[in-house]
Amino acid sequence: MIYTIRPSEDGFLNIDLEFLPSRTGTWEILLPIWRPGRYQSQHFAKNIPSLHAYSSEKACSIQKVASSVWHLEVRDVSPVRISYRYWAQQADAGGSVVEADMLYINFINCLIFPKAWENKACTVRIDHPADWQTATSLRGKQGIYQAKNYRQVVDSPFLAAPKVFSHAWKQGKIHFFLEGIGPAMHFSKRLWQAYQQLAAFQIQWMGDFPAKNYHFLLWICPKPFYHGVEHTQSTMMVMGPPERDCYEDLIGLGSHELFHVWNVATIRPKALLPYSYTKEVYFDTAWVIEGITTYLGDWFLGASGVISREEYVACLLGNLKLHFERDGRSEQSLLESSVDIWLDGYGSALPGKRVSIYYKGALVALAIDLMLRKKFSHAKSMRDVMRLMQARFGNLKQGYTRQDFYVLVEEIYEESLADFWQKWVESAQALEADIAELLGHVGLHFYQGEEGQFHLDLIPDSEELAHAFLR
Ligand SMILES: [Zn+2]
Repeated sequence: MIYTIRPSEDGFLNIDLEFLPSRTGTWEILLPIWRPGRYQSQHFAKNIPSLHAYSSEKACSIQKVASSVWHLEVRDVSPVRISYRYWAQQADAGGSVVEADMLYINFINCLIFPKAWENKACTVRIDHPADWQTATSLRGKQGIYQAKNYRQVVDSPFLAAPKVFSHAWKQGKIHFFLEGIGPAMHFSKRLWQAYQQLAAFQIQWMGDFPAKNYHFLLWICPKPFYHGVEHTQSTMMVMGPPERDCYEDLIGLGSHELFHVWNVATIRPKALLPYSYTKEVYFDTAWVIEGITTYLGDWFLGASGVISREEYVACLLGNLKLHFERDGRSEQSLLESSVDIWLDGYGSALPGKRVSIYYKGALVALAIDLMLRKKFSHAKSMRDVMRLMQARFGNLKQGYTRQDFYVLVEEIYEESLADFWQKWVESAQALEADIAELLGHVGLHFYQGEEGQFHLDLIPDSEELAHAFLR
């Protein structure tokens, strides 16, 4: 498949797809309805007015039959070109944006494909001004990129502008990059040194890294903004406004997105392996993906020394408050809210209905880590869980189920956790007392003040315990 993309001054991308059909008859042409990282239908096809198809430069029939499905009639086996325009005005990390002085393309929004061709090799030509600089994990140069398949293209966002900041370093054999658009002050030495420290720490913690190259892509946008999307070889982060010091948000977000290289890009729920881009895919382990990554993303900041222990405790309290003060009495279990992310997992939901797969998920991850540390005097921790997940599922490209995750954690804990799963994951019971008890074992006092506010204090003279928790 050959895609040619020409940004236009009116905010559209002009796109051509050329391919050689292997047979005559009706071909289904599809566009993804959602993107990995946000488990919610976004129906990108709303940004395409119409498709036009040509074979040997003669128009051929292409009919829209569903919101993201077209039927192409192929009369003879010769190259087909499908031309269309895509309205690229979604200015977040998961969208695509065409502006006079920048271009950001998340290919999953805008590249159609023939049904069942997700594993075919692709060439992507992007016709941006010749003197612009670019950033992407795709292989290629001068506007022509090659990918082993469509799946790789849609997992590799692309950024271009007259000036793209770039800093590269090596961690072992892996090439890392911090690249992006925006005022130079945001691409500080402090930031890339923090990413360097976090990457070194996470790789040593997990034992290996699933990619050869990794790009931290960043767009400092004009509006107040905070958004990041994970990919196998990159993350796209959008922050703003430019006047704000984004450093603290960027280290937290970068740490979170980097850990997704393992937890979801590599270690993936069975329902998501491979990704089905054209239908909603329900799974009850979204909390394993986002909860563990939220918990560990912050924990790595403290454990790697990028932030102090006191700063980490404040950060942990922030996450605990986001669950207990907002969703602590919600009706749904983590399982129900995992399935419901497709319905109302982002944005707002019915009051008192949902729990956050991020923050309640992080609470469950914290509890698992603390139970292991308590039982095995810190000789076991969440690290054993994630390393075994990587060995058993990630490295073998096997998807896991909730039951697989339960069994694996119980194997490390050396005991059944049936009551734990029931209480923490499968029901909506109050957990304040349970987590306070566990936190006490690492020298942290979690309690609710008279005003109803939650607090997390370092218990005097238990420095050693708190120190052990961050190792
Ligand atoms: Zn995430």
